[in-house]
Amino acid sequence: MNAVILSIGDELVLGQTVDTNSAFLSEELASRGIHTVYHQTVGDDQSMIADSFRTASQAASIVIATGGLGPTEDDLSRQALADALDAELVEHPESADTLRAFFDKRGRRMTANNLVQAQHPLGTEMIPNSCGTAPGIRAELNGATVYVTPGVPFEMHAMFEQSIAPELPSSASDDNAQTAHRFILTEKINTFGAGESAIALKLGDLMSRDSNPTVGTTVSDGIVSVRVRSEHTSRDEAGAMLCQTIDDVENKLGHLVFGRNAVTIQQSFVELLKERDLTIATAESCTGGMVAAMLTDVSGSSAVYEGGWITYSNEMKTKELGVDADIINTHGAVSEPVARAMAQGVIEQSGADLGVGITGIAGPTGGTPDKPVGTVWIGLAFNGETEAMLFNLPGDRQRVRDRAAKCAIQLLRFHILGIDLKTLSWGKLAES
Ligand code: AMP
Ligand code: MG
Repeated sequence: MNAVILSIGDELVLGQTVDTNSAFLSEELASRGIHTVYHQTVGDDQSMIADSFRTASQAASIVIATGGLGPTEDDLSRQALADALDAELVEHPESADTLRAFFDKRGRRMTANNLVQAQHPLGTEMIPNSCGTAPGIRAELNGATVYVTPGVPFEMHAMFEQSIAPELPSSASDDNAQTAHRFILTEKINTFGAGESAIALKLGDLMSRDSNPTVGTTVSDGIVSVRVRSEHTSRDEAGAMLCQTIDDVENKLGHLVFGRNAVTIQQSFVELLKERDLTIATAESCTGGMVAAMLTDVSGSSAVYEGGWITYSNEMKTKELGVDADIINTHGAVSEPVARAMAQGVIEQSGADLGVGITGIAGPTGGTPDKPVGTVWIGLAFNGETEAMLFNLPGDRQRVRDRAAKCAIQLLRFHILGIDLKTLSWGKLAES
């Protein structure tokens, strides 16, 4: 079974809003064995949208459109659908009542234009919206079922789950699988600590183009994600092959892997601290609190994160964390002993089990031949011991800081897991 996904809105074609609806829908459809033949993004233009409905309904048996169902003049999907169907728009009394009730309940007066949302092309059905005002529409056009849903992602997600997904063919119809039915299951394995080409080298044959599942990589802010896509005629086979390939990928990449799909490195780290009943505190200079922000991003991190210091000046490093001023004078603020002393100092100040100290030169100014921009020392402290690692991180200020924060978190993970810190091969481990 095939589908076409239409995204409607000027903000999308202008690039002001990134089209996340199509990605969501394609993934949901693929997991149900429905192949998306194309995505199309159309601006708020009634005749263009109508054309898109006509073309899409000839190309696939399911068409899902998102956007353009609101009450304003630029919301034209319902009129365009009526044009494509050659049907007139009529009011759906139940939807009009629901709309009035929606406003009453919130003590707001409904303006007249809102009633447009209760209209639909004659002969089509309304799909209730449990999260907002605009109902969706279900229509039959050229033998295809056309769904039109609101553009607001969470309204669309709810409508898809509650009303559209239950109508789609499920794995129960797996029996006549030899036909065009294909099940596509995907998984993302996230790594940090090696570049894309290094990851590709480690994966070797797994990445060959003609294999199934296919294995590919994408990078975003230093996180290399390995995408596995398994396509088979039965859901069970697709699932079994997917699991086997995930195992193979994870075996090859080892501890560089921190999580799957939407899991972030900080989530995985906070989970690990909870599991091991450990607490951490942070001392940051060049990252200016980025590690603290990442950790506190994770809901429930208060159980493991004691707190942190941003000690940007030498004086603060000394006053707040007890870093010996002589050490700073002798070795410089960006140095191995200072990173170690910051990490140790933060444990003493907070009583946490683990401390991390980060000091570096994010640039673009401040570099010297000895310590060029991108030089970052990360110190770890625990049980009265310290470790330190030197990094030479490439890129602009933002990138150096982002990578330094992530390197710190990955090193802490490695430390807790008992993995050689040198696994993070971007850094050079100092002699203890
Ligand atoms: P609409 O239903 O066209 O009024 O869209 C309402 C809002 O939903 C827009 O302002 C966008 O912020 C958002 N939106 C619409 N289409 C998409 C899409 N394809 N992906 C992500 N957000 C969208
Ligand atoms: Mg719109």
